[in-house]
Amino acid sequence: MNASLAGAGLAALLALFASRTAAAVDYLELTDFRLIDGTGAAEHPVQRLIARDGVIVMIDSSGQAPTPEATATWTRIGLDGAWVMPGLIDTHVHVARFPDAHRQAERILQRAVKAGITGVRDLGGDARALAEIERAGGRGELIVPHMVFSAMLGGPDIFKQGPTAELATGRAPGQAAWAHVVTEQSDLRQIIAEAKGSGATNAKVYGDLSPELATRLIHEATRQGMLSTAHGTVFPARPGDLVEAGIGSLAHAPYLVWEAVDEVPGDYRMRTKGPWKTVAPDHPRLLALYRRMAERGVTLDATLYVYKAMQSYPGVPKMDWTETAFDWGARATRLAREAGVRVTTGTDWFEPRDDFELPHTHEELALLVEAAGFTPMQAIMAATQNGAIALGRGKSHGTLEVGKVADLVVLDADPLADIHNTTRIRFTVRAGQIVQPQ
Ligand SMILES: [Zn+2]
Repeated sequence: MNASLAGAGLAALLALFASRTAAAVDYLELTDFRLIDGTGAAEHPVQRLIARDGVIVMIDSSGQAPTPEATATWTRIGLDGAWVMPGLIDTHVHVARFPDAHRQAERILQRAVKAGITGVRDLGGDARALAEIERAGGRGELIVPHMVFSAMLGGPDIFKQGPTAELATGRAPGQAAWAHVVTEQSDLRQIIAEAKGSGATNAKVYGDLSPELATRLIHEATRQGMLSTAHGTVFPARPGDLVEAGIGSLAHAPYLVWEAVDEVPGDYRMRTKGPWKTVAPDHPRLLALYRRMAERGVTLDATLYVYKAMQSYPGVPKMDWTETAFDWGARATRLAREAGVRVTTGTDWFEPRDDFELPHTHEELALLVEAAGFTPMQAIMAATQNGAIALGRGKSHGTLEVGKVADLVVLDADPLADIHNTTRIRFTVRAGQIVQPQ
């Protein structure tokens, strides 16, 4: 190659690096709004909130007004008394288990941000797609919610049918790092190490595991620094076994019912056959379970929405058990909150069905109020502060305070007056970047 051409190429490359490193600092200033900060503090008026490169540096007298660099860009938006709350976090999504996982997940997640969802925990999907979308988000190529995603781990039968088969197309069932069979003979150290290698940071302890095996799996995941989540019961391991083993989060309030059953069957398909008609949610063993969950900081991902949706969704055959499971789950969720358990908002049916629907997280919030007796403030905390804690990000996300990531929603109506007003979105801010609803 000609030396001067090579030199020109090098100069261009250096210029590119220089422009990257000298990228302007972005400031966002929001003025004149009512703040619901996600901590449970009363709503209050705010004159000024400033974020620097996506992190809140000032809210009125808290923090300090920065002196902008010469190259900085500064965006100031007057909100004329609108309501501002933290972005919503959905703790139970499956956005990447369709045959074309990557394209679908990208579309669902980009739309979710427009609808005020700034964080999600995916509890079983194609980690290849999710890892790539997360990287693209980190590089600023896409605006997507911050994400925790999972490796799905459980007994052999769960990989033989249903949606679990779509988690790892092209691989033998149950043999992908992010969707792996676990048996008594498994090398758990290796399985968890490989799961982490897929980019997953959460171990989804799924089904058909004895209390002893579930405990060993949770211990190994925790030892290697993963979060852990399980269904309320993983058959035959019951909720209390999982809580004592150190599980981080239990999903699906109705499945807690098995705590009060003497003999739990060993087949995870029994989850649709819970004894909701004979075991009350305030059974002494359940009250003891809620107390223990609160003591050990185990979050409850109630997922009321999915049981409601299965009762009446067009195109979905009505299943008799869902109505009983929903009523029981709503009462259990209320009792758990009263016992001090941090409840989160997971839907397990996140994606909108058409171009007009919002992600169902908003409906889960409304169900917490209307079916589980939460105040709107308690429901908002479930969807913000508690969600961030469940994702292991309570220090950086979930509330609007100095030092936290500027993930927020601007609303045209008061969500404390009517929880359905979380859908009245003027715009979303994801890590300091403005995202319009359409
Ligand atoms: Zn799920």
